[in-house]
Amino acid sequence: MSLRESSAAAEKPPIIWLNTLVFAITFSVAAIGVPVYAFTHGFSAGLITALVGTIVFAGISITAGYHRLWAHRTYDAHWSLRILFALGGALAVQNSALHWSSDHREHHKHVDDNDKDPYSAKRGFWYSHIGWMLREYQASRYSNYDNVKDLQKDPVVMWQHRNYLLLTLLTTIGWPVAIGLMLGDVWGAVILVGFARLVINHHTTFFINSLAHIWGKQTYTDRNTARDNGFLALLTFGEGYHNYHHIFSADYRNGIRWWQFDPTKWLIRSCSWLGLTRNLKRTNGYQIEKARLEMQFKKATEQAQISCETTLAKLHEEFDVLVAKLREYYQVRKQLLDIKTKALAQNVHVPTVAELHEKAEAVRNALNHHKREFSQMLARSLQGPNAA
Ligand SMILES: [Zn+2]
Ligand SMILES: [Zn+2]
Repeated sequence: MSLRESSAAAEKPPIIWLNTLVFAITFSVAAIGVPVYAFTHGFSAGLITALVGTIVFAGISITAGYHRLWAHRTYDAHWSLRILFALGGALAVQNSALHWSSDHREHHKHVDDNDKDPYSAKRGFWYSHIGWMLREYQASRYSNYDNVKDLQKDPVVMWQHRNYLLLTLLTTIGWPVAIGLMLGDVWGAVILVGFARLVINHHTTFFINSLAHIWGKQTYTDRNTARDNGFLALLTFGEGYHNYHHIFSADYRNGIRWWQFDPTKWLIRSCSWLGLTRNLKRTNGYQIEKARLEMQFKKATEQAQISCETTLAKLHEEFDVLVAKLREYYQVRKQLLDIKTKALAQNVHVPTVAELHEKAEAVRNALNHHKREFSQMLARSLQGPNAA
């Protein structure tokens, strides 16, 4: 090999043929097979229902199982649920939960670092979407599972890891064939529930590594490329609120508002009522609001050329007061919660709770007042010194 050839080889690591062929074949069969079969035979309503059900099962096994349960340990789950996630994860064909979590922890630890983040968005859309899996970019790290030692103690994770290939073949081939036999259309089921379903599951999950780092709002932090995007949340069972997720990754929720689409959160929460999940971790409201306000403040000062130093000083002052009020509000809320629990347990007389309710109300009113003041000040400073 000449010098030039060897340096070219060093630039581009070897192709991982298994991954490349799996992606290429499944995509081609789905892209050609679905329209041809739809035209020549048609797909029954039963098959389409099975397609949607399988997409949801495999997709949510990745988001609720691989991602929020195993990679981030945001809650604990009963073994029966873990087995379901392990099977759904094999059906999603995204490697074992152990391997996936190891990659994902590296992604969070070294986010946007082109050498260390396995799917760094700074290397572009193609690389972060699928390119990173087509060549041996991080071959030295593949079998190093030091960052997932905790998961090695989970018998379900290790059972799935040891039997990954067998489980993947059984679920990806066995399930569509079983559906086909039940509905009397084996080829239709193999094309739709087998191939097309896998392509959809693959690319919607991959959007979280690519699009959710490119397209959307940086609501809570701009220290990394992660974005909040409600549309992507629709395609990814709630994982589109990726900016929130990157700053508060220990939270079992990604969409924290009631109107945000996060079915993964709804599933984890509903399972807790049945005793299937517990220890659901949430970020303190104070931290969340503080991060959001800091970003608003940062964006406003970046956008506006605040020439008048006194305006800037006043703005700083108001910001500090606002954060202090925010802290006070969440402290009172916590006190109230503690007293309520005590009152329930020890039968303490009610006025204590009523008084605290009043105090919480007053602090909330003061907080809202300062919030309004702050945003008015921001608006005024954006209009420039002449507006004052
Ligand atoms: Zn994550
Ligand atoms: Zn990310």
